[in-house]
Amino acid sequence: MLEPKAEQLVRKLISDYYFNAKSIAPPHTERREFGFGDFDKKIAFRHYSFKDENDFKKYIVDNAPPFINYSPAEYEHPDGRPMENKGWLGGELIFDLDATDLHLPCQEKHGRSWVCENCLAKVKEETTKLVEDFLIPDFGFSEKEIRINFSGNRGYHVHVVNDDVFRLNSKARRQISEYITGSGISPEKLFELRPVKREGMRSFDVLHGPKPTDGGWGGKIAGNLISALNTGVATLEEMGIKQEYARKLFKNRATVVLGISMGNWDTVKIPKKEEFWRDVIKTMAIKQSDSIDRNVTNDTGHLIRLPDSLHGDTGLLGNTLPSLNALQKFDPMKESIVFKGKTLKVKIEKAPKFSMNGEEYGPYEKAAVELPIYAAIYLILKRAAQLSS
Ligand SMILES: [Zn+2]
Repeated sequence: MLEPKAEQLVRKLISDYYFNAKSIAPPHTERREFGFGDFDKKIAFRHYSFKDENDFKKYIVDNAPPFINYSPAEYEHPDGRPMENKGWLGGELIFDLDATDLHLPCQEKHGRSWVCENCLAKVKEETTKLVEDFLIPDFGFSEKEIRINFSGNRGYHVHVVNDDVFRLNSKARRQISEYITGSGISPEKLFELRPVKREGMRSFDVLHGPKPTDGGWGGKIAGNLISALNTGVATLEEMGIKQEYARKLFKNRATVVLGISMGNWDTVKIPKKEEFWRDVIKTMAIKQSDSIDRNVTNDTGHLIRLPDSLHGDTGLLGNTLPSLNALQKFDPMKESIVFKGKTLKVKIEKAPKFSMNGEEYGPYEKAAVELPIYAAIYLILKRAAQLSS
């Protein structure tokens, strides 16, 4: 529970923000289901609907909900209940990438409810990989059909808005999630032994595999191995190759690269190939299987944070990033700050070091400090601080 005077202050900031902000209502507002959170629960109420964007804006200014969620799906009767009575028409394809799912070593240090620059950089890399290595090349979506927004806390949401995707059922959505998380890929199917016969010689088998110019996972595996070979032993080891073999491969890289670029994998002598390929695929796949599964496949019922709304655990904005280029340049702990202007005195119980608006704060332990309002609210909403009376 947030202390009442803190809740009152934050509700006022939220209401003022939505009053002044341009409309954040999603396309086809009237066909969306909405759900709202309070300070303890991200979705405390759902099955709401609004007739248009003004109706919606009035509600969020009047009620100042700490979390605003909407359905990626569109319905004939978005407020119908139970779910079967809504009349599902179709929906966006959503990917939810959260730094917590990356199991980074830094999270052991600062705790899972906090983020550091490393967490934010890694989850940005993962989001870029999803778009650049999977959604655009393998599924053929164009950049303008892909909408990326900061979650307002520890990650990014990717929305694919496309007519073909709109009607995809759960099964098809599950296949997409299996593909990008690498769980539906059988490496053994990408390789085969092909006999080679030369006149006057005994026939022998050559291991044939994917070329970097191939589409899909085969091309990704070949391309990634080639770029790792050109980078060095450490990169090969990161792919799961034991040091001894990584050194051998690196030493013979000219022959190995030439072989792979023609689909001849016989020059790559790796023991326990099966295990090796599984590890390689793991390093290249999108590492978010739990939350991706939940979001991609539960198309009929799942609600997700509305882009450009505020996050009730941080007070930060879930900014929409208009392009991949904008994503690369985006600094979440700076550009998503909306509460500005004054300072607040807070009593901090405990908080790790964090950076906001280019300034470093903390670490704190049982400290009384005066902070810019955005940093104070961030700590209050993370339940690490209280307003000083
Ligand atoms: Zn971290």
